[in-house]
Amino acid sequence: MIEELVSKASIGDDDAVEELSVIADTDPERLTPYLGSLLDRDVLWPAKLYRAADGEVVHRVVERIDGGRTPDRLNHLLLILAHSGHPLAESALRRWSTQSPAGADKLYVGALNYAREGGWTVDPDGRRRNLCGNSAYRWGMREAPRRADRPTCPWCASPLWTAAVLDTADPSVGAALTHTGWPGRLVIETCHFCACYTTLYSEVTPAGDTVWWPGNTRPGYLGPAAAEDPPVLVPTPDGARRGPYGASAWEQGGSTLGGWPDWIQDAEHAFCPGCGQPMDYVGLIGGADLDEYGEGAYYLHLHHPCGFAAVNYQQS
Ligand SMILES: [Zn+2]
Ligand SMILES: [Zn+2]
Repeated sequence: MIEELVSKASIGDDDAVEELSVIADTDPERLTPYLGSLLDRDVLWPAKLYRAADGEVVHRVVERIDGGRTPDRLNHLLLILAHSGHPLAESALRRWSTQSPAGADKLYVGALNYAREGGWTVDPDGRRRNLCGNSAYRWGMREAPRRADRPTCPWCASPLWTAAVLDTADPSVGAALTHTGWPGRLVIETCHFCACYTTLYSEVTPAGDTVWWPGNTRPGYLGPAAAEDPPVLVPTPDGARRGPYGASAWEQGGSTLGGWPDWIQDAEHAFCPGCGQPMDYVGLIGGADLDEYGEGAYYLHLHHPCGFAAVNYQQS
């Protein structure tokens, strides 16, 4: 069956590509034996198809980039390496960050920055850090009456929205946040309205404190806005997903704690205002889960060493 999908994908059958993508999200290892053939047929997109690429396929991609014969495909090939997260891919991306491969002059970012598209980064001390976790949980919505004493957004005066109330003492939360190193309670408050326009940061502590970061910078294009009530819904962990890639930014029920983000646009891991490094990913809240007509998705991030949380938003 997969062989047939690979053939169809190679002649531009979008449905076949979609079916392969679903397998990449639910059981990526099933694709591993077919990735060489996918590469032969030049099916390079979406790069997540190559999540479970083995050393042989990764080696071939690295060789193809080093050979410099298809510089116009460099962007796709780097994305494949990023998604594979393979040690061979990592060492090649590190090498190319100082010795640019053919075609790199057409890229918007350096080779090593591609790592973030695959959910990892290399910290200033040279160590690799995975930005996403391996455990993911459905994030069901529960009604939470707003307390009158909660703060309002300094920009639009809307009451702040409690986007997450978590405690690592809960084993699912602990598992979903393992990669962040967070110990204790985590409450993230944000402005549901202004977060749609810029990344909003808050200062958080393991005691569950959450405070609007005074350094948040209001974008010039964000004009005066009337205060709006935020959703009265707070996501609550609700059963494990099959793997880390089960989040959906589109579908109802797609909100997910932990695992990997389903980006609507390019990957947008927020940068920590404390240290400038990409923050760890916490979870996604789909607009469709907040409101019948809701769209887009909120992405939650955390950097434990600096005590910052962030929320950003993407839509199609
Ligand atoms: Zn606001
Ligand atoms: Zn930081």
